[in-house]
Amino acid sequence: MTPRSNSELFERAKAAIPGGVNSPVRAFGSVGGTPRFLVSASGARVTDADGVDYVDLVGSWGPAILGHAQPDVVRAVQEAAARGLSFGASTPAETELAELVEARVTAHGMSPVEKVRLVSTGTEATMTAIRLARGFTGRELLVKFAGHYHGHSDGLLAQAGSGLATLALPGSAGVTEATAAQTLVVPYNDPEALRAVFAEHGENIAAVITEAAAANMGVLPPEPGFNAELTRIAHEHGALVILDEVLTGFRVHPAGYWGLSVSEGEMYVPDLFTFGKVIGGGMPLAALGGRADVMDHLAPLGPVYQAGTLSGNPVAVAAGIATLERATGEVYAHLNAVAATLATEVSEALSAAGVTHVVQRAGNLFSFVFAPTAPRTYAEAQAQEVFRYAPFFHAMLNAGVSLPPSVFEAWFVSAAHDEEALAVIRAALPAAARAAAEAVAP
Ligand SMILES: *Cc1c(COP(=O)(O)O)cnc(C)c1O
Repeated sequence: MTPRSNSELFERAKAAIPGGVNSPVRAFGSVGGTPRFLVSASGARVTDADGVDYVDLVGSWGPAILGHAQPDVVRAVQEAAARGLSFGASTPAETELAELVEARVTAHGMSPVEKVRLVSTGTEATMTAIRLARGFTGRELLVKFAGHYHGHSDGLLAQAGSGLATLALPGSAGVTEATAAQTLVVPYNDPEALRAVFAEHGENIAAVITEAAAANMGVLPPEPGFNAELTRIAHEHGALVILDEVLTGFRVHPAGYWGLSVSEGEMYVPDLFTFGKVIGGGMPLAALGGRADVMDHLAPLGPVYQAGTLSGNPVAVAAGIATLERATGEVYAHLNAVAATLATEVSEALSAAGVTHVVQRAGNLFSFVFAPTAPRTYAEAQAQEVFRYAPFFHAMLNAGVSLPPSVFEAWFVSAAHDEEALAVIRAALPAAARAAAEAVAP
């Protein structure tokens, strides 16, 4: 018999797929219970295999900025699919999307994304950006910050956020010591620690990679001036800066978190950017871009090899273009307003229930930390009362609100989150906040 309920589907999935999931955080490991198997989504809502509807604050972890199954995006995908799913050759639309990205990432007369290459996942984008930085500089070492997540390539899993934060893993088995030794991990928001690493290894550091605003250990924005300072330090030593905007890019501002921070007066020019999530509008698409002289080191012009059978896939590109074209100033204003309202209302509910917490925000991305003061580093983010999140999460889920199944993930709103969606969330909050208050330390 074909299984239908979430629990039957999970049992069957576990027999066929490790842990029953194709990406670890989906397994509900840190909140417990049965993951919902989703069968459809529309606007601000998702529907599971039991036929239950939820107001969704996961948004496919970011891509669903216009809401799920936005009709214009679906139409663009259908039309592209009808013309052919994949050619393994260049298409006119790839250039259109590259130009769209280059034109969007501008602020104060700066246009730091001069060339773009399309790939299929954020992991590929950061992996390629690092290889490119090494090929361009002729240096081997990479600096990353503790708690930042840049996808699952070998060199980037040390003290990484996202699923590794959720599962409390320091890194991954299967990464060789030689590879791990080439990544230097520095505490976030600590320019002194970064200076010390450069003082010791500066001549051999190819690049510093940083999330534009950290959002994979919960939202943990850079302190004012930190991105500019790290750029100054890296450039003083001839290293490149890779700004990872896979999560923040085209979500927090039309020109990404870089555009948001520059518009607020912080001046810095990263050498390379990585994009994902929103850029594909829900299809597998990501990109790296930046200085033309660096980007032109990629094959076929240069010696740094990168390729992909499905890179620039025409159906994914159609979804990306349709999404970016509709992510207008009006949409960002709506996202900012909804995020501000929600963050305030959740915080008020937690306060009313007596739950010690702080709200963390980076543009329209936000999350909550069960601690008395805002964390500045991964160690501080980990020190919170994590155990309060599972009962909060399940109370919200039972009341029809789907949150990220980990306290170490951002909440995502969309253009489709309207008053009706907010009302469902609002109604669910008091009981969920009480559940968080009553949670006992394990
Ligand atoms: C999601 C994410 C990635 C990895 O992207 P995938 O498409 O999941 O491979 C890389 N960097 C950041 C900042 C991300 O949030």
